[in-house]
Amino acid sequence: MSQSSTEQSHTPTGKHDLFDGVDQVVRESVRQSPININESEAVFDPALLSNPLKVTYPGKAQDGSLHLKNTGHTWKLSVGDPNFIIEGGPLFGRCQLDQIHAHWGPDNTVGSEHLVDHCAYAGEMHFVHWNTTKCESIDVAPLHEDGLAVIGVFFKLGAPHPELQKLTDNLKKIRFSGQEAELKGEIPLDIRKLLPEDVTAYWTYEGSLTTPPYNDCVTWIVLKHHIEISEDQMEAMRHLLSVKEAEAGTESEACGKLTQNYRPVQEQSRVKLRCGFNPGHDRC
Ligand SMILES: [Zn+2]
Repeated sequence: MSQSSTEQSHTPTGKHDLFDGVDQVVRESVRQSPININESEAVFDPALLSNPLKVTYPGKAQDGSLHLKNTGHTWKLSVGDPNFIIEGGPLFGRCQLDQIHAHWGPDNTVGSEHLVDHCAYAGEMHFVHWNTTKCESIDVAPLHEDGLAVIGVFFKLGAPHPELQKLTDNLKKIRFSGQEAELKGEIPLDIRKLLPEDVTAYWTYEGSLTTPPYNDCVTWIVLKHHIEISEDQMEAMRHLLSVKEAEAGTESEACGKLTQNYRPVQEQSRVKLRCGFNPGHDRC
């Protein structure tokens, strides 16, 4: 996952201050994400069944609240509507959706951050929420061990996803790093439809950000059910550039395609993986 939509500061030397101490954080952590989800090791937790995960995403976001940006590492859809909430399941309190982004690879054999029994999916979309019960603001959420809650959804190649199309159609407006666009269309995006219908089957564990500064602050909810997306939709993401518009037409543009933006699984992690469903064996 990526950091929040909050703008981050830089030191005078140009080095990103979020990177200070990153190596040490990662070395000492045993809950770094992503991980390989070994299905047979997931512990069934009846508490996850009795208090099911509840996703409350209104069908239509408030006007002007959806902003799409090329961060240089991914596309990011910021959601400025406080009515998008998840509760229950492994969560303590109320968590508000801040942004959605995705990870992918150069071809469809890799791209997801989490693996399931060592199988990768073509990509993975992250719905990043912050815990409004525990944290005063999203800025301090990374400092709490459960400050953020992220739902991960796998992409599997197949039919075009009609709701995601509303987003991928807009990616050409933000081809260069730093570009932004307001997401609007004749038919508004229904964010709930970007999730699979069934959100009750998931794995959960206490993990970390998968981008610097890799804080141990994320309750991960990785959905078992994927969504199908088309090759064209994957390609629309791979056409994004990691370079700014000022470099258009230069060699940097040719080399700057965002074809791979996932973090590999962190073998050193020792997390407690729980699920609230009977583990099955339909492999990816
Ligand atoms: Zn992510």
